[in-house]
Amino acid sequence: MKGRGTMSKKLLSIRDLSVDYNTEISRVYAVNGLSFDLDYGETLGLVGETGAGKTTACLSIMGLLPEGIGEVVEGSITLDGEDILRVPDSRLRELRGRTVSMIFQDPMSSLNPVLTVGDQILEVLQEHNKGKKKEELEKTVDNMMELVGIPANRKNEYPHEFSGGMKQRIVIAIALACEPKLILADEPTTALDVTIQAQIMDLMMELKTKMNTAIILVTHDLGVVANFADRIQVMYAGEVVERGTTKEIFNESRHPYTWALLRSVPRLGSESKKELYALGGTPPDLLLPLNHCPFADRCEYCMPICKECKPKETALSDTHKVSCWLMH
Ligand code: SF4
Repeated sequence: MKGRGTMSKKLLSIRDLSVDYNTEISRVYAVNGLSFDLDYGETLGLVGETGAGKTTACLSIMGLLPEGIGEVVEGSITLDGEDILRVPDSRLRELRGRTVSMIFQDPMSSLNPVLTVGDQILEVLQEHNKGKKKEELEKTVDNMMELVGIPANRKNEYPHEFSGGMKQRIVIAIALACEPKLILADEPTTALDVTIQAQIMDLMMELKTKMNTAIILVTHDLGVVANFADRIQVMYAGEVVERGTTKEIFNESRHPYTWALLRSVPRLGSESKKELYALGGTPPDLLLPLNHCPFADRCEYCMPICKECKPKETALSDTHKVSCWLMH
């Protein structure tokens, strides 16, 4: 299954994406000018605090922004050669599941409690394989269950009969059922305990290698992406403030917000008895467009210019880019 797609073409290309939410109180500028590419089979970590715009970016790729509230106001999203902001809804439904799938944060609410887990995997397969016989698809259900480490003879059980970790495995089986080219994993392990977290991440990476699936791994925790991502983008207040290979972000980070995230990762074996670092303050109010550095109010290196205008992105290498006045 390796080698899907054309190597010269990007699987995903996002350009100048801006997304707003129209709430009853005001307009919220959730994502502002987001641009990035993703190759076939690549894993990209999207890291940042709650409200950084990570999930909104993923929902835009899925075409699942809340109707009448979320709105892409600018930009383009090209997925496997198709401009998905301009395709009809019927085409978008075909792409969901077959080309792109999403694993949501909470397995407890992602599954339908009144359908057996086998039927939930089958449902997705039937939607995308209209000509195939049910018996044939049932075999794929069994294979998917085994692939995620759950015996196929449990397919007639209901979600409440499984533990949290097993439920998330089933959610992954549903997401992978049609062998999508891209998986958006939105905090896939947040609701699980630490040992299960590691198992789920290992499972996802194993499946990724088997199926050459690209993954966008969304998390607030740099520790989670350290072992799994090829590249990392650090997001803050709807913008990417630093991007680079995993090595560049962990060993040569240059943005004060990335430093703060790194300092707040607990380290095993650390001799220091000091309290774990916590970044003070809160992210800025996104009810008004930001015309200065979004991190200015919380940054210990803030200079007058930081509150006057936005820093342009500085390229430190082909892959490592930083938006901070300290680079100028
Ligand atoms: Fe801090 Fe200024 Fe850099 Fe923003 S631009 S992160 S306020 S130093």
